[in-house]
Formats: sequence, C-alpha cells, structure tokens
Amino acid sequence: MKSRREANARFRLVLTLGLAVVLPALTLIFVNYQHVKSIQRDKKVEALIHRDFQYLLSNSAKKMTSKAYEMTQQAMDAFPLDSDSDDEKGQKLDLILEKNPWFEHAFIFEDKKGVIVRQQRDHKDEKELAILNRMYGGWLELDGRSMVDQLCKKPKPIMWYSGETDRGMGPVYTSTAIFTFPQVSKDRTVLGGVTFDIKYLKQKLFPELLEEFTSPKLADDPGKSEGHTFYELTSQGLKEHKEQRLAMIIFPADAFRSEPERAFATSAGWNGGKPEVSLNLDHPFSGLALGIKFQGTTAQAIGQKWVWQSFMILGVLSVLMIGGLVLTYRSVNKQVALARLKSDFVSNVSHELRTPLALIRLYAETLELGRITTQEKKHEYYSIIRKESERLSALINNILDFSRIEAGRKEYDFRETDIAELVRNTLDSYRYQIEQQGFALEEQIDPGIPAVKVDREAIARALVNLVNNALKYSDSEKFLAVRLYRDQSVLKLEVSDRGIGIERTEQARIFEKFYRTCDPLVHTTKGSGLGLSLVRHITQAHGGDVEVESTPGRGSKFTVWLPLANQI
Ligand code: ADP
Repeated sequence: MKSRREANARFRLVLTLGLAVVLPALTLIFVNYQHVKSIQRDKKVEALIHRDFQYLLSNSAKKMTSKAYEMTQQAMDAFPLDSDSDDEKGQKLDLILEKNPWFEHAFIFEDKKGVIVRQQRDHKDEKELAILNRMYGGWLELDGRSMVDQLCKKPKPIMWYSGETDRGMGPVYTSTAIFTFPQVSKDRTVLGGVTFDIKYLKQKLFPELLEEFTSPKLADDPGKSEGHTFYELTSQGLKEHKEQRLAMIIFPADAFRSEPERAFATSAGWNGGKPEVSLNLDHPFSGLALGIKFQGTTAQAIGQKWVWQSFMILGVLSVLMIGGLVLTYRSVNKQVALARLKSDFVSNVSHELRTPLALIRLYAETLELGRITTQEKKHEYYSIIRKESERLSALINNILDFSRIEAGRKEYDFRETDIAELVRNTLDSYRYQIEQQGFALEEQIDPGIPAVKVDREAIARALVNLVNNALKYSDSEKFLAVRLYRDQSVLKLEVSDRGIGIERTEQARIFEKFYRTCDPLVHTTKGSGLGLSLVRHITQAHGGDVEVESTPGRGSKFTVWLPLANQI
C-alpha cells in the first residue's frame, strides 16, 4: 500500500519533470543544434565577412580614385597658358613637377606645334626624354583630335591611360592623365598631361593609403569610413572579426598568385600569402588590384571558430541543464522519502504511546478493583506500571529533544561530572528490565576515569537509547555489554550486543533522523527512528561522536567517544 503510494508519487514527479522541464529543454537544445548545424553558420559567417571585405575594397578604391583626381586637378590648375612662350611653358611644367613630386613627367601638346615634355628634376635623363618626346608627340599627333572630342563630352575633362608600357627598358606600369583646358576653344587640339611616378606610388602614396584603409581608428569611426559599409555590417551580429586587424595589398591584377614579390605595396602585417578578396581597380589605376585579408587568420577560421563556440555554449548549457534536472530530481525524491519517513514516524510514535498507556491503564484498573491479594503480584503490577511510564517518558523526552534540536533551541548544561558513576546509575535503573528480558549484562567500567564536563541528562539519554536499541534488536542471543574506558585523550563508552546487526550499506544512514533499516525484526519492533540521531547530536555537541561496527546476524557495537582535553 505504502510502496504503491510512493511509486505513484514518484511517477507523478517524473511525469511533471518530464512534461514541464525535460521535454521543452530537450526540444530547445535539439532545435538549436539543428539550427546551428543546418544553416551552416560557418559558411554564412564567411560569406558575410567576404561581403564586408567587398564593401571595404570598393570604398577604398573610390578613395584612391578621388585622391588621384585631386592630385591631378592640382597640377591642371597650374598648367601653362596657351599664350605662353615655349620657354615659359617649360618653366611652368618644371614648377608643377617640383610642387607635385608624385608625377614623373608633365607635358603639353598643341597641334602643329608639337609636344613639350618635362621630367622630374632628380631623374632627368636625356635619352629617356628623347623617347618620351617621340612617344607622346607621335601618339598625340595621331589621337589628339579624337581625345579632345571625347573629353568635351565628359563632366571632368580628364582621361586616363594606365597599364604596362615598354619604354625601352622592359615593361613598366604607368598611369597618365590627359586633359583639356576650359579656357581653350574646343576647335583647337591643345592637351596637357601628367604621368604618375611609379616609384612614388609604390614607396609613398600606396603604402600611406593602405595604412589609412586598415587603421582601426577608421574602423571605429563609421563617419570616416563613409558610413554604411564594413563596420556597420559587422555590428549586425558579427562582432568577432571587428577585433581582427586587417591587411591590404596592391598588386598587378593579372599576376599575383605566382609572383607575390611583384606586389606594389602592402600594409603592415601582410606577411605574404594571397588576399582573401580582391578587386580590380578602375582608372586611374586600372591594371592593378586591391586585395584584403585578416592579419594572422582567415574568414573561414573565424566562421569555424564561431560555430565551434556556438556548439560549446550549447553543450555547456545542456550539461548545466541536465545537472540541474538531476539535482532537482534528487532533491524532490529526498523530499518524498522524508515525507514518507515523517508519516511512518507519526504512526510509529502513536503506537509506541498507545501500548504503554494501555498497559498502565490495565494494571492500574486491576489494582484499583482490589482483586489482587498477594503482595508479590501487586509488586509485579506496580513495577510494570513504573517500567511502562519510564518507557513513555523516555519516548516523550526523545521527541521533545528532537523538536528542540530541529528548532535550534536545544541547550546543554555542561557540568563537571563523574561519568563512571553516571553510567553505573543509569544502568542500575535499567538492570531489572534488562534481566527481566533475559539479557546477560556485562558491565565493565575502568577505574580512575577522570571527571569530565558533560550534560548529565543528555549523556544518560544517549546511553539509554543505545541500551534500548540493543534490547530491541536482539533475537536469539540476548547479550549486552557496556564498557567505559579511557583511550589516550578520549573517553569511550561502548554498547555491544549480539543481535541482528546492521548491513554495511545502512550503517551510515541509521544516524539520520527517522531512518530505520529494512530488517523484518525492525519492522515488527516499535520505534521512531529518532534515537540514534539524538545520540549523534548529543555526542557532537560534546565535541565527540558516535560510531558503529556491526556484522549482520552477529551483533553491533556502538562507540561513543568524548574528548577529555579541550572540553567545552
Ligand atoms: P528506532 O530504534 O526508534 O527505530 P534509532 O534511531 O534508535 O530508531 O535506530 C535507527 C535504526 O537503526 C533502527 O530502526 C534499527 O534499524 C537500527 N539499529 C539501531 N540500533 C541497532 C542495534 N543495536 N542492532 C541492530 N540495528 C540497530
């Protein structure tokens, strides 16, 4: 009956836990797992990073273009006038080159008059100048007119010629701007031009631009990076790669892979290798490409790390949740068991109270009726009444002590006590009962036991509980031994029997409140399951403890030890 009720309660508990917690939790874990797995987050992260890279590259390319236009415009404004003499034109071109060190040479062309070319002062080379004169002269003579016509139609009168050219010493990358002048009539073929100095581009302009593009300061300030691009995107959920430093490269668009040393310029931290994303540049730097990657990692690694982290978090959460569930299950289980113990306790105690009360009433009534004539019989009846009332008060004392302990109100009155005498007196008052029940009592109290500070009543109660247990849990062999002796700095009080004994697995639990073993004799014997928990509480309050040694079927030995030194 009882176990059915318990099984029911347990079933209900498992069902509640299952429906209310486990099921939703497992579903959540499963759905999340599927989510992380199915959408291939690593690929998404990688793709998002690549998209951000594209934005950053096109943004940077735009800046490069406007920078080149700005530089060219500056030179255009200082170009010689049509009316100037050839010498003046030459001087003005020299001045432009002096003020704009990024140009290698500047030239002005007029139909019929030919071209005037000037080189940067520090690398003047007559041989090269002759080649340039020939080259620009021939070219503009041929195409000058159509160039002017094309430039008239453009919002900005500049056109770019960039790519590799052969100037007699192998292919060299050049970028040349050719422009018309607003003050010159469109019918005339007058053109100006400047060519970027490739050395300057490689050594100064490009490295500076790359540093600017990859600097974290720019990254933190969306205003500077021209809004809605890379870093705004990252804030939509991909913070990871925001902390990663970037590295950029400018290289000839056609041949990077095989010849990384041909890189035009790299930002700090490039450290070789291929760019993750690259963009072919348009005029004025067509023929070149801009590449980007992370310093020391790849978008793929970041994506994989992100997924790995997600799984780790999911795993840790799952473990925590399962741990929580196990703990909850165990604690609720404990509560169920405690509730059962309490209800057992109530029925045990009421039995225990009822039996001595019924006996007391029966014998008192018989005596009252005056039917008992012999003195011996009367004596026997009185002694039964006394014994039963002693049992009653022992039980009530136990319950009262227990409730005080539970409420934290139990106080001990420690006094200097002759403990040998205390043990002797307590046993004396039980001797009759012990012998009546057919027990052989062996009492061994060592002489010279020093006085100790104890609560007399509490120690007596502990001894009574141990003796009572020995009497209750012995069947065939009725033997009880009580020993008091000193063992170095502790005082030991042993109560042994040759009774039913206690299984090893249950030995630690018998000191818990309400706990009773599964032995059939225990079940037919009345008890509250409080005695040993009180004994432990009392001994621990005295700075000692109680231990048990027992073999099922052979008997048990309970040892209470109390410290002699450092007493409370
Ligand atoms: P109670 O005796 O009222 O059940 P106790 O706390 O005194 O409660 O004891 C707890 C349990 O320990 C007992 O129910 C019994 O199963 C076991 N026990 C205690 N003393 C002995 C003993 N001397 N021999 C065998 N079992 C014992």
